[in-house]
Amino acid sequence: MDEVRNLIIIGSGPSGYTAALYAARANLKPLVIEGVQSGGALMTTTEVENFPGHPDGIMGPELMDNMRKQAEKFGAEFITDDVTRVELGDKPTEAGTEGLKTVWVGEKEYFARAVILSTGSAWRRLGVPGEDELLGHGVSSCATCDGFFFRKQNIIVVGGGDSAMEEATFLTRFADTVTIVHRRDSFRASKVMQLRAMNNEKIKIEWNSAVEEILGDDGKVSGARLRNVETGETKVLDVTGVFVAIGHDPRSELFKGQVAMDDDGYVKVDSPSTRTNIPGVFAAGDLVDHTYRQAITASGTGCAAALDAEHFIASFI
Ligand code: FAD
Repeated sequence: MDEVRNLIIIGSGPSGYTAALYAARANLKPLVIEGVQSGGALMTTTEVENFPGHPDGIMGPELMDNMRKQAEKFGAEFITDDVTRVELGDKPTEAGTEGLKTVWVGEKEYFARAVILSTGSAWRRLGVPGEDELLGHGVSSCATCDGFFFRKQNIIVVGGGDSAMEEATFLTRFADTVTIVHRRDSFRASKVMQLRAMNNEKIKIEWNSAVEEILGDDGKVSGARLRNVETGETKVLDVTGVFVAIGHDPRSELFKGQVAMDDDGYVKVDSPSTRTNIPGVFAAGDLVDHTYRQAITASGTGCAAALDAEHFIASFI
């Protein structure tokens, strides 16, 4: 059998890298399997102004690069590839004395005493031209993160659920107008959230409308082309921000059938710990959290996962 690791961390966002830093400093020599796109969600953004310790803000990729370097400095190892399969239940070793987890990257197997799952979540895209090109330049999936950049601007929020109502209401603190674009003629958000949004004088609503294209000028959002799904008519709204609020999906496919998840596929933990229902398997970050979804909260639970894993591994040593 190949070398048995103390700890494998799957994912390289703020939760994975923070877990790696803590585990490395605890001398656990963690192996981080980062994914083919290392660094996580913040690699797709520009300025991050709300990660403490950076009073002038920091670019997302630079923040992630710093986190990686900090973990590496203390002995974390990295594989920049996707995990393709996991066996999280205990596999008996040849000695038959301890259980091990198995993680595959293609055909290659890795064994560990403990595993931290930190594969994050993906925001649902509209899938329209301009969306990916203008991401971080007027297109956003996070009002808490980016609202501050849209002071005195006219913006739209796409969606009809609770998050869309909450984001639209929050964004009125900054923007001059917020137009909610929704493809049906009623919202599925709870009544109280709907009323709060609809009674806000800065909020307008475009019913039965879908965003067909996000328009850009000089690399920044300059408008959104809407299509009325009933009449087929199109029109352009002159907006400088587009917030996509149609939901998130946890990246938990790989772990299905192995750890307990909620109905939406988020990994369940024994909160406030990061323990899943499988001993030696911990989970952190947006893979678990559908409430806060911030870099600092992901880092916080990543730290907790490393401490929980350290405690668990101590029983082997
Ligand atoms: P992620 O950062 O999503 O990282 C998940 C990691 O798992 C990735 O590295 C991915 O490659 C890896 N992975 C997935 N599948 C596999 C696999 N099979 N094998 C191996 N690895 C895998 N938050 C803020 O606090 N401030 C902001 O300003 C801010 N701006 C944002 C802007 C944008 C555009 C977006 C999308 C998000 C923003 N956020 C911001 C939210 C923040 O990025 C997330 O809350 C945070 O990154 C979640 O961290 P995480 O570690 O849970 O997951």
